[in-house]
Amino acid sequence: MQECSRKERLEGKRIGVVPTMGYLHDGHLSLIDRVRELADFVVVTIFVNPTQFGPFEDLDKYPRDFERDCEQCMAHGVNVIFAPSAGDMYHPGHSTWVTEEALTTDLCGSRRPNHFRGVTTVVTKLFNAVLPDVAVFGQKDAQQALVIRRMVRDLNFPIEIVVAPLVREADGLAMSSRNRYLSPDERRRALAISRILLGLTPGKVNPDLIWDGITKAGGRVDYVEVRDADTLGEVTRDTREILVAVAAYFGPTRLIDNVVLPHVH
Ligand code: AMP
Repeated sequence: MQECSRKERLEGKRIGVVPTMGYLHDGHLSLIDRVRELADFVVVTIFVNPTQFGPFEDLDKYPRDFERDCEQCMAHGVNVIFAPSAGDMYHPGHSTWVTEEALTTDLCGSRRPNHFRGVTTVVTKLFNAVLPDVAVFGQKDAQQALVIRRMVRDLNFPIEIVVAPLVREADGLAMSSRNRYLSPDERRRALAISRILLGLTPGKVNPDLIWDGITKAGGRVDYVEVRDADTLGEVTRDTREILVAVAAYFGPTRLIDNVVLPHVH
């Protein structure tokens, strides 16, 4: 992968990457379309990264369809798909980790121990393999995007980070590879999350009402958080925009969603 990227760069190309875990949907494809506007040579990485899954999470049953992913990448002008195996990525005895220590302490970080350590480590490794000039991440994983931005700033990666908007199904459900786990009934109920988030009025956001609405629809709320969208910290007088972030289970499936609203004082 490095050889390939070096050769392209020698030819003056700007290299862009979209890291994914595969099972691509229109959310991923929107990131690919975005990076194609920002780079001359587009790499998509497909790697279901074991180190970001907890011991009781869905690593083994995470959906995969490599053939279809390849077709979609081809149709969207991807130049290279980098799809290493777990053995390619992690030597037996791997013992080096990249950790971000401020933004990962709560929201998904506190519910999924070691999740972000796995993310920052694998993204570092993918950056070192692909040697990109620009990388696109999705606002769907709002905390992840902030963590990656912080990591790139703190560790001086010479890589531009772009965050692309969250893409939804026609009925509002945030697109996710994990949506395929939902039964038709769970999927219908799960619509409560986006219905509530998309119905919020700036200046009138009440986390308790969001919690109740999701619970009434049959969901088990993991968290509802209202934060400064730029810092993930508490909302203050300086806050420009607020992030309303939700994680909730419908059946065994954990879904996340968020909206960003102007901060009304
Ligand atoms: P994943 O394959 O779930 O690890 O996601 C790979 C990238 O796609 C991440 O940057 C995600 O934030 C992004 N992504 C996933 N779902 C969506 C979505 N519905 N809208 C926008 N970006 C998304």
